[in-house]
Amino acid sequence: CGIVGCVGRPNETLDVLMHGLSKLEYRGYDSAGVALANGTVDIEKREGELENLEAALEGIDLGGPVGIGHTRWSTHGPPSDRNSHPHADCEGQVAVIHNGIIENFQTIKDELVAAGHEFVSDTDTEVVPHLIESALADGASPENAFRAAMERIEGSYAIAAVFAGGDAVYCARADSPLVLGVGDDATYLASDVPAFREFTDRVIYLDDGEVARINAEGWSVTTLAGEPVDKSVHTVEWDA
Ligand code: GLU
Repeated sequence: CGIVGCVGRPNETLDVLMHGLSKLEYRGYDSAGVALANGTVDIEKREGELENLEAALEGIDLGGPVGIGHTRWSTHGPPSDRNSHPHADCEGQVAVIHNGIIENFQTIKDELVAAGHEFVSDTDTEVVPHLIESALADGASPENAFRAAMERIEGSYAIAAVFAGGDAVYCARADSPLVLGVGDDATYLASDVPAFREFTDRVIYLDDGEVARINAEGWSVTTLAGEPVDKSVHTVEWDA
């Protein structure tokens, strides 16, 4: 039910994500998780309160300059560690978080299972990393693989993904809030501004059908088809 992302603060990514998730607790949730990308994508997730996730992260060095975090309000599959987000593909190349509902997930899941993909959760969300994996296997770049998955799914979503070896977070929305935060040396994304308000007051509100790519240098917003979109950066006047 809440999404956060951060790129450009290599030594603090996890802290920034956990701070953001705590600011989104008001939205309600039953599980939480994070993924940090470096050469690999490392995922840690737990059913229950954020403190369960914090306990699981104790003593683990989830380093990485690129990260995403999620609080889940389950719609497909009961709350459990397994159904918590982020979700990965078979090879662990990508981690995906999602708020909302993918209406056509069953059709896509049946196709992917027939093609040999193994699913480990009961969620609608898990089709997304597997769709991305299929596109990567067909030779698509991470960005185009992400777009291909977004073009295939129907429903309401705010989705973000990180890739092993990648330096960016990709995100997209349809009928679900998603906002970028533009800092001096880092870029953020979240379901709602309070998640990163402590770090920046400059925000970009994404619209339905837009795909954003954020990295340490900044951001770009395009349509699903890849056409650049002119976005304005707003300054929020209030404190978190
Ligand atoms: N439909 C997804 C699930 O059940 C996402 C729910 C949410 O918005 O947190 O896992």
